[in-house]
Amino acid sequence: MPNASAARDVPDRFDPVTSLPFFAAHVAALVGVFLVGFKWWYPVVAIALYYVRMFFVTAGYHRYFSHRAYKTSRWFQFVLALGGTTCAQKGVLWWAGHHRDHHKYSDQPDDIHSPRQKGVVWAHVGWILSRQYDETKFDRIKDFAAYPELRWLNKWHLVPPVVLAVALQLIGGWPLLVWGFFVSTVLLWHGTFTINSLSHVFGSVRYPSDDDSKNNLLLALITCGEGWHNNHHYYQSTANQGFFWWEVDFSYYMLKALSGLGLVWDLRTPPKHIRDGVKPSLLAPLVAAAQTRSESVPPRVAARPLD
Ligand SMILES: [Zn+2]
Ligand SMILES: [Zn+2]
Repeated sequence: MPNASAARDVPDRFDPVTSLPFFAAHVAALVGVFLVGFKWWYPVVAIALYYVRMFFVTAGYHRYFSHRAYKTSRWFQFVLALGGTTCAQKGVLWWAGHHRDHHKYSDQPDDIHSPRQKGVVWAHVGWILSRQYDETKFDRIKDFAAYPELRWLNKWHLVPPVVLAVALQLIGGWPLLVWGFFVSTVLLWHGTFTINSLSHVFGSVRYPSDDDSKNNLLLALITCGEGWHNNHHYYQSTANQGFFWWEVDFSYYMLKALSGLGLVWDLRTPPKHIRDGVKPSLLAPLVAAAQTRSESVPPRVAARPLD
C-alpha cells in the first residue's frame, strides 16, 4: 500500500534548515527568562496566554475544523481560526487536514505521527520538523477550504503570531515578549504535541478503538480536555472529550458557555450507548424487541398485578 502521506519528493526526516525557527523560539524562551528578570506576573501572563490559546487549538482547530463537533456562524468560525493561528501551529486547513489523516490511519503505517510506527520523539515533534508534511492536504479539508477567508488565513498563518509578538513587545517590552510569547508558545507546542505522542502511550483504555489511544487525566489538564484521547478516538465527532462528569474538559465547559451566549450551537455529545460502551448493533435488536412487546400489550393488561 503506498504511503498516502508521502506527497512530496523530499526526505521523510528531520530537516535542520526548516526547523531553525522552532529551535530559535526555544532558545529565546530559555535564555530570555534569565535576561528579563522576574516578576510574579510574568508567568501568570504566560500561563494565561497558554490556556486561552489552547482553547482555540482544541475547541477550534481540533473539535470544530477537524471534526465538525458543533456549529457556529461564519464570522465566529473565522475568530476560532484566527485564535488558533496565533499559536504558531501552522494554518488551520493544514492542521485539520493532517489531523483527519491521523484518524483515518491511526497507528497504522500511514499514520504520520504514531509512536507505534516511528517512536515517541517522531510522533511528538519529528514529523513537524520534516519537510515531507509542510503542505496543506486540501483533499482532506474540502469543506472548510471552500471559504476564501480561511484559505487566506491558512496561507498567511505566520502573520497572527507575529502580530501577537509585536503587540506584546509594544505593550510590555521584552519581559512580555519573552514570557507572553516565547515561553507561552513553546509550552503550547509541547502541550499540544503530547496528544500525538504521550496520549498514544500512557494512560488507560476504556473503549476498543483499534489503536493505541489512551485516557490520561494529566494530559487532559494541560490540554483543556484533549487527554481523554481514547474516548475521542472511539467516538470522534463530539464537542466533549471527557464523556463523564469527572473527566475534566475545560474546552467543553467554555463551549457550553459560548452556546449559552448563542455564539456556537448544536454541540454534539456521545449517544448513551456509545458512552456506555454498548455497540449499537448488539443493542438495536434488544431495544426493538422490547418496544414491540410493550406496544403489543395494552397498558391496562400490562399494569395488572401478577396472579
Ligand atoms: Zn481528533
Ligand atoms: Zn490520536
